[in-house]
Amino acid sequence: MSDYMYLLESHVSQEQNRLLTEVQAAAVEAGIAIYLTGGAMRDMLGGFPITDLDFTFEEQGPPKLAKLVAKALPDAEMEEHPVTKTVEIRMPGGATGSLRVAHVATASKSGAPAKVKPAHLLDDLRQRDFTINAIAISLAKASRGLIRDPMNGQSDLHNHEIRVCYPAAFLDDPFRLLRAIRLRHRLNFQIEERTERYLNSAVESGAAAVLKPADWRRELEMISDENQPSEILRELDARHLLPVPAESLNVEGLAKFEKLRRMVPGRGSYWPLFLHVLVDGVKPKDRTTFASAFGLKPAELEEAKKLKPQVTKLATALKAPAVRRPSHIYNAISPAAPSAILYLLYDSDQRLVLDRLGNYFDKYLPEASEITDAQVEATGAKPGTAQFARTKASMIAAKLNEPPPPPPLPATGPMGAPVPGAPARISR
Ligand code: ATP
Ligand code: MG
Repeated sequence: MSDYMYLLESHVSQEQNRLLTEVQAAAVEAGIAIYLTGGAMRDMLGGFPITDLDFTFEEQGPPKLAKLVAKALPDAEMEEHPVTKTVEIRMPGGATGSLRVAHVATASKSGAPAKVKPAHLLDDLRQRDFTINAIAISLAKASRGLIRDPMNGQSDLHNHEIRVCYPAAFLDDPFRLLRAIRLRHRLNFQIEERTERYLNSAVESGAAAVLKPADWRRELEMISDENQPSEILRELDARHLLPVPAESLNVEGLAKFEKLRRMVPGRGSYWPLFLHVLVDGVKPKDRTTFASAFGLKPAELEEAKKLKPQVTKLATALKAPAVRRPSHIYNAISPAAPSAILYLLYDSDQRLVLDRLGNYFDKYLPEASEITDAQVEATGAKPGTAQFARTKASMIAAKLNEPPPPPPLPATGPMGAPVPGAPARISR
């Protein structure tokens, strides 16, 4: 196996591996050469976690591959883009990917709907947004593991730089202006010098004006999934790209929210909560302007309020006098939805509630996860039964309520004399 194939297989999750395997098998059956391209290649070669598997293939005639993949993955959702024919795939466990027929697009004027025609892989790669996104690895039997990198994206990956594939890239598709800023923050890369000039002149020429509210909405959804949305919004504003001033939104509150979100394990989507935070305390006039610039219905800004009853219930449970021991706190929080927990963390100013939530994530949750199903089974409880759930709950409670180990005794020698080299005690 090539080193790159080994690297790829050791980088993907179990569900991503299933997607990878089935797409390869479908390509063999259809007699089509297929490549892994885009973000997955960038992330694998750059040492970042792979979040999405984008495949590209050269196909002539009626589409075969997407149908075969749909048959092999009946539990996956698949949706075809009407113009590019790219099929987006969402696996039941959340892994995502796409199947793209290698193509090139020609736009008559900036932002106008592009005309798409099938092309060879290398031509497709040369027309991508950034060089680091224009790398492919062959998954075809005869050339498995072969890297195609016509724009030398690996060198830009190495230098931590975002470089466009060609000078007019931003003018041809102003979406790339937004993608450049988002990607820069995600990877902590610099925008390469010449690319910076192309970007500035595209902004000055008003290229972003063609972006419609629906485009902004799509981008905002993607920004909301990034680690530091507030930084991205601030930079878009500083570059005169954001359709409303950042200071008319609660970007400061968003920065606090992002930090709290990092405490909650897993990578759930918090879109309604993200919107709630962004317009929290914002003047009604600015809310309306924001909603229309980003193609959002006013009701969407209120969506998170539906969590309020759950949030109030959780806050009340956490303050109840009967809740004293760590296991009580764990039992009060663990059934709550992550978005309700996050809402409470963001919204509450009660020390007791915040301390208990903090302890839950810092101590109780990691300690509880040390109790494995195998340990519960060893007590004789049968998996899937109510007794199994009860036994596990009481094992977790016992572990959480264990008194902390006594502090180590000060190091003393015979007759209580200090050990040479032991830290001296400071008398007060
Ligand atoms: P992510 O990890 O967020 O999926 P990504 O770079 O893979 O990052 P996608 O939206 O999945 O982003 O796009 C897949 C690939 O398609 C990109 O890596 C890039 O090669 C190409 N691409 C996406 N959008 C554009 C665009 N506007 N112009 C040119 N190429 C694009
Ligand atoms: Mg991708």
